[in-house]
Amino acid sequence: MEKRDICIVGGGISGSLAAQFLAKKHQQPCTLIDKSEFPRHKICGDGVSGWVVNVLKELDGDLPGELLAEPFVLPSYGIRIAAPNYKYVDLPFDPDAVPGEGIPPGFTAQRYHLDYFLLKKAKSHPLVECYEKTEVTGFQATDKGFRLQLNSGQKEMTARIVLFAQGAGSFGPPGINTGGNPVNTFIGLRGYYKNVAGFHAQNFIELHFLKDILPGYLWIFPMAGGIANVGIGMMKKHILKRKVSLKGELHKILNTHPLLKERFRDATEYGPLQAHAIPLWKKKEKICGDGYMALGDAARLVDPVTGEGMGHAALSAKYAAETASLSLLHNRFDAGFMHRYDEELFKTIGRELDISRKISYLIRRPFLLNTFMNKAGRNPRLAETLAASMGNLDTRKQLKNPLFYLKMLIG
Ligand SMILES: Cc1cc2nc3c(=O)[nH]c(=O)nc-3n(C[C@H](O)[C@H](O)[C@H](O)COP(=O)(O)OP(=O)(O)OC[C@H]3O[C@@H](n4cnc5c(N)ncnc54)[C@H](O)[C@@H]3O)c2cc1C
Repeated sequence: MEKRDICIVGGGISGSLAAQFLAKKHQQPCTLIDKSEFPRHKICGDGVSGWVVNVLKELDGDLPGELLAEPFVLPSYGIRIAAPNYKYVDLPFDPDAVPGEGIPPGFTAQRYHLDYFLLKKAKSHPLVECYEKTEVTGFQATDKGFRLQLNSGQKEMTARIVLFAQGAGSFGPPGINTGGNPVNTFIGLRGYYKNVAGFHAQNFIELHFLKDILPGYLWIFPMAGGIANVGIGMMKKHILKRKVSLKGELHKILNTHPLLKERFRDATEYGPLQAHAIPLWKKKEKICGDGYMALGDAARLVDPVTGEGMGHAALSAKYAAETASLSLLHNRFDAGFMHRYDEELFKTIGRELDISRKISYLIRRPFLLNTFMNKAGRNPRLAETLAASMGNLDTRKQLKNPLFYLKMLIG
């Protein structure tokens, strides 16, 4: 039986960054296992926030610059948010950012390329052992960690610590809600389009909140190479209850929406429309236990308003790597020790996730959302704070105070 200290299940953004943090920051060997062969497609909106840029910077100061020089990356300087009454606000991510200078506050990148770039970085480190086309098909807790079954028993491996970074689905350690549960699950359908007109000159990403699909929304993200990632997301329970076809809904909106139909007049679909679950964060739940931690979507860390999951996945990778390395140093693998992971992670993102959950209740009500957006259009402080919160951790801290929202709504 092959023995390892740390095995990571899944080489997406959380898995490959955890491997890099372990190897580079903690000089800790690890084994990364993914069922796919990279590059592989990952259904996503492809919008990457400043959170990811910040984590990459912590990993290696040169990494953001190297990534942003890749041809598949398109810098983005802000977000357009449209309310059900079709009014919209344009919010720069960072009012001080100068387009074309330095590291942009956000960007878009097809996951096909982005994840491959990050996995190659992990694989190139001598302390990272990587298995692709290798599925973890089963696991069993033992008194010395876990026994992992690979490719239905073709191979077995033991690990002192397992980082579950396998994305949304029902696979994962017992007692952890890894995203298979439909109650708070969003379904996102995305496609790539050519010739979409009318983007903001600084490649603002767009979220359109529409009355019929609230608290869902439509997104339109400009991408490198003149294409756009266009998608629609709705709560799974609403799709089932209202018997909605996401594909039909998307086409209907693009053909009839007063602001969008002109912009899509000459647009053509490029590749298939594909759907995937988005496990939205609901409340603090168990995400670690004896000898294991769940990362990214496997820990349901997706922001319930924006659907952004990559930033939280990246942060979870950083904190999981830190805890795994300390755990080996102190020879402590019990759940009590592993709790350091969720404590550190939720210290950084817990309050923000709570606020997002509260906002997600607000956006279920078109009237409130229209009011909020009208205010944002007229109130520069609200507009600036909302915009900066997308990419700037310090500014996000301002959003911790619920009074902020109350003042904005009634002020
Ligand atoms: C339609 C849609 C739009 C989205 N848009 C955005 C967006 O614009 N911005 C944003 O930040 N987030 C977005 N998200 C969320 C984002 O995609 C996820 O939060 C993010 O990919 C989570 O990364 P991860 O590493 O946890 O999981 P993943 O990226 O899903 O990676 C998991 C990896 O594990 C592997 N794997 C799975 N099971 C096994 C197994 N048993 N054995 C071995 N390997 C396994 C898979 O092959 C995969 O490579 C969107 C999601 C969807 C579905």
